[in-house]
Amino acid sequence: MKRRIPYRTFLKPEQLPKCWYNIKADMKELPPPLINPATMRPVSLDELSSIFADELARQELNCTDRFIEIPNDILEYYETYRPSPLIRAYNLERRLQTPARIYYKFEGGNTSGSHKLNSAVAQAYYAKRQGLSSLTTETGAGQWGTALAMACAHFNLPLTVYMVKISALQKPHRKAVIESFGGKVIPSPSTTTAVGRKILSADPNSGGSLGCAISEAVETAANTPNCRYVLGSVLDQVLLHQSVIGLEAKAAMDSLDEYPDIIIGCAGGGSNLGGLICAYMGDKLNKRAHPHFIAVEPDSCPSLTRGQYAYDFCDAGRITPLARMYTLGSGFVPSGIHAGGLRYHGMSPIISKLYHDGHIDEARAVSQTSVFDAAMEFSTAEGILPAPESAHAIKVAIDEAKKCRESGERRVILFNLTGTGYFDMSAYIQYHAKEMTNHSPSDEELCAGLKSLPKLS
Ligand SMILES: *Cc1c(COP(=O)(O)O)cnc(C)c1O
Repeated sequence: MKRRIPYRTFLKPEQLPKCWYNIKADMKELPPPLINPATMRPVSLDELSSIFADELARQELNCTDRFIEIPNDILEYYETYRPSPLIRAYNLERRLQTPARIYYKFEGGNTSGSHKLNSAVAQAYYAKRQGLSSLTTETGAGQWGTALAMACAHFNLPLTVYMVKISALQKPHRKAVIESFGGKVIPSPSTTTAVGRKILSADPNSGGSLGCAISEAVETAANTPNCRYVLGSVLDQVLLHQSVIGLEAKAAMDSLDEYPDIIIGCAGGGSNLGGLICAYMGDKLNKRAHPHFIAVEPDSCPSLTRGQYAYDFCDAGRITPLARMYTLGSGFVPSGIHAGGLRYHGMSPIISKLYHDGHIDEARAVSQTSVFDAAMEFSTAEGILPAPESAHAIKVAIDEAKKCRESGERRVILFNLTGTGYFDMSAYIQYHAKEMTNHSPSDEELCAGLKSLPKLS
């Protein structure tokens, strides 16, 4: 039987976005600016350009251009793996016996296995065009490091990746993939930086954190001639690049005559969530529609649900600019859950502002085992093994679909399937062996992290 809506909807080449969408142009109230902790004044373009490639620094501060043209070289690279499919989850719907219509945008179909390639390509391109000689970055679970290594290989740029030590140990294959694409991997904390040495002297057994790896990468970029630092999430420029996800999703859903009632994304630094929701958020800010947005985070690292909306450092070493965001404090070290990409103390300033002002309707914190339960339900139905991060969105999508089963509502649910979990098999093994645990920090643990917030006079 021919279905009116196919399993997979692809856009035609002429329907692909030629511009990124800058949600800040539609925000009546902008996120507060990044602050230079040395001067306590908003970070200037010059200051940002000493950390990031010039064009990326400009994009970071651009609050007015609604659409920003995607350069041809990037469009060409996107063509190698985009558009990503919009998939109607018929099999999951059947299994859940829900009247809801469930869609997901599948960003894990490229070799790096996640959405991170969308921004990696852009950042490597601008670095190359400026004539920079190398880049540094950090990686937690390894997806960003892989994506950036692919992009740097394409543009022939040397790359050093500070990889959170516990992840490098848990995921030796991910490290090997980064190295296979030519990236140099240094487990963090390391002795190659002052920040790393300081953290190691305080705790020689430190397994590291994203915040610590960021400090090391920023320090190395600052001390290496013609080198810049790149970041895979959190920043406005990254959300800008990730807007291709939402623009494609919206074009595909429009072609099916569908409009989502509920839009769900997992939130680590906020880039896939920001990317997916942006086009629909534009509708909401301009009062054309009122979709319900849900951000999903791990209960072990609950920045939106239990953090403070405050200025904080983006890194554990406290050397980056200050961003106003939902944060658990840069000194907060989340427990070693498997969704490494969600183990970050802060949150994108854009997502934070949208949440603070009520435009993102809801944030939910979910436990690790409930996330893997959902991952199993999804993978056996849909035939895709999700990344643990992505499974956070799946968990809430399934919860919402079950509510529809009770109420009989035919709601349209859209979520982001950000990546595949083939490098997370040790997590799945632990889950199958029923050895997986949950950790929700106590109020005391959260207080300790929040004490590390900088005092602003
Ligand atoms: C990095 C990552 C995330 C979380 O990062 P965001 O910036 O919040 O999107 C989610 N899913 C996957 C597969 C990732 O690699």
